[in-house]
Amino acid sequence: MRLLIMGPPGAGKGTQAAFISEHFAIPHVSTGDLFRANLAEGTALGQEAKKYMDAGEYVPDSVTNGMVRDRLKQTDAQQGFLLDGYPRTVAQVAELDGMLGGKGLDKVIVLTADIDEVVGRLLNRAIEQGRADDTEEVIRRRLEVYEEQTAPLIELYASRGILVEVDGLGSVGEVTDRIMKSLNS
Ligand code: AMP
Repeated sequence: MRLLIMGPPGAGKGTQAAFISEHFAIPHVSTGDLFRANLAEGTALGQEAKKYMDAGEYVPDSVTNGMVRDRLKQTDAQQGFLLDGYPRTVAQVAELDGMLGGKGLDKVIVLTADIDEVVGRLLNRAIEQGRADDTEEVIRRRLEVYEEQTAPLIELYASRGILVEVDGLGSVGEVTDRIMKSLNS
């Protein structure tokens, strides 16, 4: 099972990804989490990524692609994985295609969400988790960057016939049920 979950910041990707990865017993590979772990450990990669994350910009591919390549080589990812937050650009899609060789993604789940709703969720998360990239100004920039650079991936994966669109509005459990149903159909 090789899956990708995508959607605008605040759509609930991380929360849903945790359930899906547990359900299918596949590792949850989140580039945002990997960057934050590097930052917490004080690595050079973490320091470099922080400059971009704090501004709501994408971390350069020269940093991001290698990190994902290394992660997907690990033993636990050989039977499948759930990517969360990668690929985020058309160039990263090409890079991932190269990493996976003939074995492409099975399904791409896109969580749809209303912009006002996600801004509210992100501002709440800022209070609860204190993430440096959850200030209102940075949130707006992250949404802009998503629209410009990541939203085009929806069409791209739809044209490959592997896109599953799921309404991200509602309780966590409702959204999980929708995802499971659409993966099984
Ligand atoms: P996330 O936790 O997925 O919202 O990611 C947090 C931040 O990490 C993003 O706003 C970007 O700055 C950075 N990031 C995560 N994934 C990527 C990626 N695939 N390409 C570039 N930057 C990324």
